[in-house]
Amino acid sequence: MTQRYHIWTEGCQMNVADSAKLAAGLDRFGWLPTESTDDADLVVLNTCVVRDSAEHRAVSKLGRLKVLKRQGAGFRIVVMGCMVGPKDDDLRKRFPYVDHFARPQAFEGIFETLGLTQDDGGEFWPATFPAPSGPTAYVPVIHGCDKFCTYCIVPYRRGREASRPLIEIKEEVAHAVHGDVREVTLLGQTVEAYGHDLPGKPDLADLMTALHELPNLERIRFLTSYPKDMTPRIIEAVRDLPKVCEFFNIPVQAGSDPVLDRMRRGYTIAEYREKVDLIRDLMPQASITTDVIVGFCGETDAEFAETLQLLSDIRFDKVHVAAYSPRPGTIAFRQLEDDVPLEVKKARLHAIEELEARVSEAINLRLEGTEQEVLVEGRRDGRWFGRTRSNKLVHFVGDTAIGDVTTVHIDHATAWSLQGTTAADALPLLI
Ligand code: SF4
Repeated sequence: MTQRYHIWTEGCQMNVADSAKLAAGLDRFGWLPTESTDDADLVVLNTCVVRDSAEHRAVSKLGRLKVLKRQGAGFRIVVMGCMVGPKDDDLRKRFPYVDHFARPQAFEGIFETLGLTQDDGGEFWPATFPAPSGPTAYVPVIHGCDKFCTYCIVPYRRGREASRPLIEIKEEVAHAVHGDVREVTLLGQTVEAYGHDLPGKPDLADLMTALHELPNLERIRFLTSYPKDMTPRIIEAVRDLPKVCEFFNIPVQAGSDPVLDRMRRGYTIAEYREKVDLIRDLMPQASITTDVIVGFCGETDAEFAETLQLLSDIRFDKVHVAAYSPRPGTIAFRQLEDDVPLEVKKARLHAIEELEARVSEAINLRLEGTEQEVLVEGRRDGRWFGRTRSNKLVHFVGDTAIGDVTTVHIDHATAWSLQGTTAADALPLLI
């Protein structure tokens, strides 16, 4: 009888990529995906603990699975991702009904738990991995993180930085673009650290240059940038390689040097501004987004005002903002006091969201009436959707197909998305 798996994924694109990899491996054994736990033989929770809310969602999901198991559900449960540290004894005690705990990228144990082995002793994955259903794919290029920012649990859960060999990544992407994939996003917690641990020390610019040669590959993106690791060489490669999109996600986290110091981010605001200035000098059309944490330990009104000032000066295309919540196991949890009241955190969060909505809308409104290159990712409610080179979501009508790179005339913009018509179908302007 066909076995079915249900994968629930929380958190960053690295987890999305890990879930896709696990799914590709299970598919190879003839298992089928299912949207529901009702007919699943295996339920996988791919967890995130970067924020308190994400961890709560995983724990409450586990509670529901426990009830279903008690009621007679026959599925096995695997918990993977950042909830699983090097030691899982506590987790085993807390969740005894879970069949297996897997650390990020530690897939082999999952297959063993399921009794799945390769007759030929070969890889669990088809050579064509990544095997996504659409034209875009996430490709992890460096795992882990060495930075140890004081608030962050990632280095403890995902381990030290480990780059994948350039040739292995190139082969994987070559297979992917042989199929439906037209755009790859190169992933790392600090993606510009790519290669420092490899023989010959290739960097992200070398990797993007190598991938650029691949026929059928239309676009290359990369996530997430760590300001200190962004070198002029990498920024220049984005300018010089036509397939690399002018899109940067550069978490700043706070606009005040003392706060950055307490976070141990390893750069000053002046240095951060220099990187942004260089990008904008070389690529005025570049889109830049950032992440901010409000209410970090000891953050004063004056320090928060500096963050607001930075955001209004730089005018990011998008700001992902979160209120600080202490994560057990981190340096901040052990050594700093979480002393900003919840109400103050919420007020600061709303202040940024309000500023951001205005800035994003103004930036997007400038695109009204322009023509943008869009990679078509799908169709929903009678309209196509896809992203511009600057990673803005566009819904549009007209004659096209999934996987096409098409020119779209932008008719209307909001803070969150753009609407348009394929240029060939756009009405001529009446002058
Ligand atoms: S750079 Fe800092 S915030 Fe980012 S994953 Fe590493 S430790 Fe966490």
